Amino acid sequence: MNIHEYQAKELLAKFGVPVPAGFAAMSVEEAVEASKKLPGPLYVVKAQIHAGGRGKGKFKELPAEAKGGVRLAKTEDEVRHAATEMLGNTLVTIQTGAAGKQVNRLYVTDGVDIAKEFYLALLVDRATGRVAFVVSTEGGMDIETVAHDTPEKIHTFDVDPATGFMPHHGRAVANALGLEGDLAKQAQSLAGKVYDAFLGTDASQIEINPLAVTDDNKLLVLDAKVGFDSNSLFRHKDLLELRDETEEDPMELEASKYDLAYIKLDGDIGCMVNGAGLAMATMDIIKLNGMFPANFLDVGGGANKEKVTAAFKIILSDPAVKGILVNIFGGIMRCDIIAEGIVAAAKEVNLAVPLVVRLEGTNVQQGKDILANSGLPIVAANDLGDAAQKIVAEVKKVA
Ligand code: ADP
Ligand code: MG
Repeated sequence: MNIHEYQAKELLAKFGVPVPAGFAAMSVEEAVEASKKLPGPLYVVKAQIHAGGRGKGKFKELPAEAKGGVRLAKTEDEVRHAATEMLGNTLVTIQTGAAGKQVNRLYVTDGVDIAKEFYLALLVDRATGRVAFVVSTEGGMDIETVAHDTPEKIHTFDVDPATGFMPHHGRAVANALGLEGDLAKQAQSLAGKVYDAFLGTDASQIEINPLAVTDDNKLLVLDAKVGFDSNSLFRHKDLLELRDETEEDPMELEASKYDLAYIKLDGDIGCMVNGAGLAMATMDIIKLNGMFPANFLDVGGGANKEKVTAAFKIILSDPAVKGILVNIFGGIMRCDIIAEGIVAAAKEVNLAVPLVVRLEGTNVQQGKDILANSGLPIVAANDLGDAAQKIVAEVKKVA
């Protein structure tokens, strides 16, 4: 789960990380009010969407020469103008895709005089299984470009969970940023606090870009992106309240209501599978047969009729789906129960694309009989390879 920049900054501030003052605003008037609470003379009005690259982004509804989603303002009128141009309009950035994202919230924050922009992120390094710092002097730009053009300017090191954050980690951050004296001390302290925030919230990512050095030699977080490990949210009820459902894919949101692990993909074959490993294998074998999966969908071990129906509806609400492959291993859940669920769901949603079903496991024969006697045009498959070949053939037949 991701949160907005203003929420991320409020969270980091609770852990003692230095951030500029600011207020969220849902309307133009709120934005103006927010600026009145700030000292000035410079304000920054920032579009709050779950995507980066806002500064260089473009609004669909505004002329090409209009400014992007991060705007400096010196007067109340400029704040009002910026807020009016952004709210309700669609911001397209390098991270949103061509469709862009509608701006429904703003953040009005203190404008600072920037001497230098750095990059600092914490994430889970899957190779070492540890929390890792990623630090670079090249902040303010997109880190993928830095990694591609000047990889030597990115420093990475991880933290041993047995020791936790140690003074030498702080020194490593300061060194990587080429800081000395008081700024080095600030960097050491900031790094420790960001680490505390990472562990304390079960974050999966904290990306600060830019981490600015101001003209008066202060380190300040000017932009922060924070994501949490969804599997840990049950123990962070306060964080769950930060969720903004309007930022999520509608189909993924619907799937989450039924506890289905669903991720939309670009292909043509809708997949309904139980178990993440089986789902991955199913996607692989579809590709091996020359087509691409339209989604990843794990209905989980305890799939019942309601879940199967919901899963079917979600798959079919995707106009790209030209055929469905169901691949279920009946272990805890018996194949006959699953078959009944599939038949009921297929009837309820008025299935208009080919459906291939591969069942294996407990009561597999009863399950197959139910499918065969359903009167529905369900194609039965015997194994994974057979299922993939059949769905690809069926879809090509229709096309
Ligand atoms: P994004 O990464 O989505 O473009 P940022 O918050 O990083 O958005 O803003 C882009 C740039 O705008 C920053 O690199 C920085 O130069 C400038 N900026 C952002 N916030 C402030 C601020 N509070 N004061 C002055 N400049 C800012
Ligand atoms: Mg940024």
